[in-house]
Amino acid sequence: MLEIEDLSVSVENKEILHHVNMKIKTGETHVLFGPNGAGKSTLLSAIMGFPKYRIAGGRIIFNDQDITHIPMDGRARLGIGMSFQRPPVIRGVKTYDMVEACLTGHGDRGSVAQLAAKADLSDFLDRDINYGFSGGEVKRSELMQLLAQRPELVLLDEPESGVDLVNISLIGKLINELLEQDCLIRNRKCMGLIITHTGYILDYVNAHTGYVMCDGMIGCEGDPHEMLATIKEK
Ligand code: ADP
Ligand code: MG
Repeated sequence: MLEIEDLSVSVENKEILHHVNMKIKTGETHVLFGPNGAGKSTLLSAIMGFPKYRIAGGRIIFNDQDITHIPMDGRARLGIGMSFQRPPVIRGVKTYDMVEACLTGHGDRGSVAQLAAKADLSDFLDRDINYGFSGGEVKRSELMQLLAQRPELVLLDEPESGVDLVNISLIGKLINELLEQDCLIRNRKCMGLIITHTGYILDYVNAHTGYVMCDGMIGCEGDPHEMLATIKEK
């Protein structure tokens, strides 16, 4: 379970998140809505442990362990993984090597080639990470790396942004697999927190709870489909 308790986060001495509370149980997927600049990506970055995002108050508990002050690599080892809203290009590192590194010690997750085929990226493995990739290719590559890493807590920052409709269905499938959507909730070993602007992703994952974030605070919490309908209408 992930428990975020009264979390406040500052970036460059400015407090961005104020007293955020959230609880995600194993097996559940929660979605985060909210306008640009609300602090959604900041929340994911703070959970992942980016040093730039300073915890100004509160705690993050993951599987009963206080991870508030554990560095990012430690959190990754504990089973937290993230796909970025705008992932960087990494010159000099081949996509193959990144996926292979994520797979190390976990042969049961399939080979690099199998994962690439699944993400329709077989021809991209010898290219530098994200170098010259289209919007959809970047997002699929992020999900391919996560499928190799298989984190227990999956953080997805706008997985469908900049992606066309054909790609969205493939991305939906990959997210489904990552979040074990075909298993009963009680049999799942992972949980997810997904930021979405468009809500398209709700057609593919069975989201349990939704939140609207505004000005660094959680404004409301409830049924994600109802929430999306209200957001669209208002
Ligand atoms: P959202 O993902 O909801 O669009 P963000 O979390 O990206 O919002 O940003 C929230 C606020 O925090 C914005 O005002 C943004 O400019 C600021 N912010 C986020 N990251 C940084 C950073 N690394 N440096 C400076 N300001 C930042
Ligand atoms: Mg964002």
